[in-house]
Amino acid sequence: MRNVVLYGSESHKFILLNESEPGEEDGIRSNQYLVLHDDCGVLLDPGGFGVMPRVLAEMLRYIGPDKLKGIILSHQDPDIVGGISTWLEITGAPVYVSRIWMRFLPHYGILGERMKRFVGVPDAGLPLEICPGFDLQLVPAHFLHSEGQINVYDPASRILFTGDIGAAMLPPDRDYAFVDDFSAHLPYIEGFHRRYMCSNKAAKIWVDAVSKLDIHLIAPQHGPVYRGQAVKDFLIWFRELQCGIDLMTESGHFREGA
Ligand code: FE
Repeated sequence: MRNVVLYGSESHKFILLNESEPGEEDGIRSNQYLVLHDDCGVLLDPGGFGVMPRVLAEMLRYIGPDKLKGIILSHQDPDIVGGISTWLEITGAPVYVSRIWMRFLPHYGILGERMKRFVGVPDAGLPLEICPGFDLQLVPAHFLHSEGQINVYDPASRILFTGDIGAAMLPPDRDYAFVDDFSAHLPYIEGFHRRYMCSNKAAKIWVDAVSKLDIHLIAPQHGPVYRGQAVKDFLIWFRELQCGIDLMTESGHFREGA
């Protein structure tokens, strides 16, 4: 587990809590993020059941669970939602997830009163005031890869949390925290994006929407964080990417590279 402060001012921090190193476990690093404003915290994609104790231990270096004022789930996958019922026990925070995944959450063992802690995010996204002076923007990223995917933009740090968009599958012998050279990084993202992202139409719509934001860093759920020219280079590449159903043949197979 490592801990990188991606942005830090006196009152505001954006922290990467990184739960597995290359070479450990399956070798795919998974990122959890804690956004802190004074003593108000928001956790982004808290992770699966197995990582929950380690994420909690890292979070306790900054705040106690009573100071957690929001948990945001980018989508419905088990590596994001698997630990949520334990988080519900130790915090009083509301949990934000796309409205289209609400009806499936009972299958994670969340029933009755606990479902009232969930807020269904509308398709258009949602501006959130977490605490006075602490605002986050929930930005839609439909079909990238999930039908109800949401991103989180933090205007104070100018960091865009993108969930699986930009995710890298680094081999066990590669380890770097930031992407500076996009073309050297491309081999570790290309196959994943071609196969998991739904279509070029979805990618174009998303790139055009987020390009209106002032983005300092792109922070994905897996792999290193994009900064500097790599932010621009990634957006240019993704906007033109043929992926998902674009690559599907009539017989139901995928063209090479997907
Ligand atoms: Fe996913």
